[in-house]
Amino acid sequence: MPSSATQEQKQKKIISNNSLEKIKNFIDGSFIDAISGSWIDNIEPATGEVYSQIADSDERDVQLAVDAAKKAFDSWSNLSVSKRGSILNKIAELITRDQEKFAQAESKDQGKPVWLAREVDIPRAAANFFYYGGIIQNFSSETHAMEDRGFNYTLRQPVGVVGCISPWNLPLYLFTWKIAPALAAGNCVVAKPSEITPMTAFMFAEICNEAGLPKGVLNIVNGYGSKTGKAIVSHPDIKAISFTGGTSTGKDIASVASPMFKKLSLELGGKNPNIIFADCDYEKMLESTVQSSFRNQGEICLCGSRIYVEKSIYEKFKKDFVARTKSLKVGDPESADSYLGAIVSKQHMEKIFYYINLAEEEGGKILCGGKQIYPEGRCANGYFIEPTIIEGLGDNCRTQQEEIFGPVVTISPFETVEEVVQSANSTQYGLASIIWTHNLNRAHEVAAKIQSGIVWINCWMIRDLRTPFGGIKNSGVGREGGWEALRFFTETKNICVSLK
Ligand code: NDP
Repeated sequence: MPSSATQEQKQKKIISNNSLEKIKNFIDGSFIDAISGSWIDNIEPATGEVYSQIADSDERDVQLAVDAAKKAFDSWSNLSVSKRGSILNKIAELITRDQEKFAQAESKDQGKPVWLAREVDIPRAAANFFYYGGIIQNFSSETHAMEDRGFNYTLRQPVGVVGCISPWNLPLYLFTWKIAPALAAGNCVVAKPSEITPMTAFMFAEICNEAGLPKGVLNIVNGYGSKTGKAIVSHPDIKAISFTGGTSTGKDIASVASPMFKKLSLELGGKNPNIIFADCDYEKMLESTVQSSFRNQGEICLCGSRIYVEKSIYEKFKKDFVARTKSLKVGDPESADSYLGAIVSKQHMEKIFYYINLAEEEGGKILCGGKQIYPEGRCANGYFIEPTIIEGLGDNCRTQQEEIFGPVVTISPFETVEEVVQSANSTQYGLASIIWTHNLNRAHEVAAKIQSGIVWINCWMIRDLRTPFGGIKNSGVGREGGWEALRFFTETKNICVSLK
């Protein structure tokens, strides 16, 4: 028998959970509960407190979403590109109008500092819609004339109902990065944000209604990846899957979707090298390296988590980098001077500590960080980790091979181009890389030899939405961005016309 105190506590929890905001599914233009009637607690990582609840959906909810999307497809795909474009532009305007509300919500849900969501995540979400609302109007296809025999023309037609599944690290930013080109190309979408960070997608749905997006064109089904996500991936009427997330999840998704011959775009994990030559612009490199190591708590797939430094400047770099890192403030995401906020979840924080311990077991030396932080006040029970630098690990260590996805980097010295290229290419991943040097020939030589889909020379995270984005090796299949995404979200049909 539970004690009456426990019963009272339980009662209180039920009452308080009933009053929590409910993040419902968005299907056919309406907000509805999951058919199961169950809810998943949504936690604010900076406080460790449950602050809202998410619909716990299953295949029945996905079926409703697919039905709505199929019903909407004919009229949406036949709407002129200028009308589709103007609805997308309106969505972008409304995101911009509500930027502050979105930034606050993204920070509370994900743990990132509000300033970062305000400067990066939310403007980028709006930019995704502005960009695809614009370029869809210039999307064209080819004609191949065959002298006097006739000609071929190519149609790029929307795929139909497509599934978009996104992760928790850049929630609205990556959610819209998929949905905007999918809608622009004339598809109807069944989307699932990460169950850990569903709030801004929920707010975004309201904006879609306000912008006049027809019912059923976008449907958002919330819930666990293993249940809701799986139901999207395995649904026979969803003809393409655009997924961003971990490599092992990508493998699971491919194993279900490939035998069903679905189009697949997989943007997966990374373990990106940051290569620093002695002749670089040292100050610029140092400032950028702090960002590429610890921005968004290191929870960006593009962060440079393996830092290789030319031996002649290794000791100086080590001293300066450690000093800069120690000066970074970790704390309440609402505070303007917090450079790092909270780690997204307790489970993810524990994963990061697992790797920090592993690094020590593997012979690594922690130069700074490595511990949990308990800020005073409202964030005392939040998930905060000191930014951590580790040295002394060989390329074969698990710490150097496996994605940690947190504020943890390793530093290692190198002497020759051959040696550093070999180290850089030594993992299963190939998403992004960073090169710092003023030697033009060397920069291009290394960029060509390095196995990654994206290379930044003397910069990091400069994004031009027109460029192809994606990884090689186990970092993914396919490219997002620019025309690549529109090609992914369309089927190519060649039509041959005889003139004889
Ligand atoms: P996960 O792979 O765990 O999850 C990504 C999404 O997939 C979530 O919405 C998740 O739902 C869902 N999901 C999980 N299992 C399945 C399944 N079997 N079928 C369908 N959907 C499923 O990644 P994280 O959310 O942990 O994100 C971090 C990872 O994302 C890192 O590896 C990072 O490198 C990668 N990433 C890659 C980027 C790139 O562009 N290459 C960009 C950003 C991140 P749920 O949350 O409910 O489990």
